[in-house]
Amino acid sequence: MKDNTTGLLMVYTGEGKGKTTAALGTALRAWGQGMRVLVLQFIKGGWHTGEQNAIKKMGDGLELRQVGDGFIDFNDEEALEKQKLLAKEGLETLRQAIISDQYQMVVLDEINYAISYGLVDKEEVLDIIATKPAKMHMILTGRNAPKEIIEKADTVTKMEKIKHHYSEGIKAQKGIEF
Ligand code: ATP
Ligand code: MG
Repeated sequence: MKDNTTGLLMVYTGEGKGKTTAALGTALRAWGQGMRVLVLQFIKGGWHTGEQNAIKKMGDGLELRQVGDGFIDFNDEEALEKQKLLAKEGLETLRQAIISDQYQMVVLDEINYAISYGLVDKEEVLDIIATKPAKMHMILTGRNAPKEIIEKADTVTKMEKIKHHYSEGIKAQKGIEF
């Protein structure tokens, strides 16, 4: 059968909740279609999440790698350097994933934050995105998506915050935030 796949560049950005979960939902859908999916989570690390547990149970085909170290403390130079190093490794993993052409979908979770926080170079990310195989889907998440990425993307969704429980003092909830 002819493969009519058009690899899309998609972005979930904005101040409202749901960017990462929308990307993971799409990853779930793709995996269910027999596609191989790689999720790279920038900044995140050391925090055990429901999605990690789920993906472990799902077995082959959906891989999740955290390429960060948790929250960023800009006053801690050493921690910041570690975050930068991990983010750099994340980009290297992305390059390899693209070269291997083994994945039909790659999710770059929180990459927009990694760019705006200066962990990775925007131009470098744009250069890598430009090498995406034509049939590979790529999803980028995080607030403040750079305009160059928005311009290049096929689909951009901005989550709008109408309400968030955090404003009411309700902390992160299991199964909802992690
Ligand atoms: P989720 O991972 O739930 O899909 P997200 O990816 O849209 O959320 P991020 O900006 O990556 O949100 O922030 C991650 C965490 O911050 C989540 O735990 C989320 O609940 C929380 N969060 C998201 N939006 C807001 C907001 N407007 N105010 C306070 N906390 C928020
Ligand atoms: Mg997120």
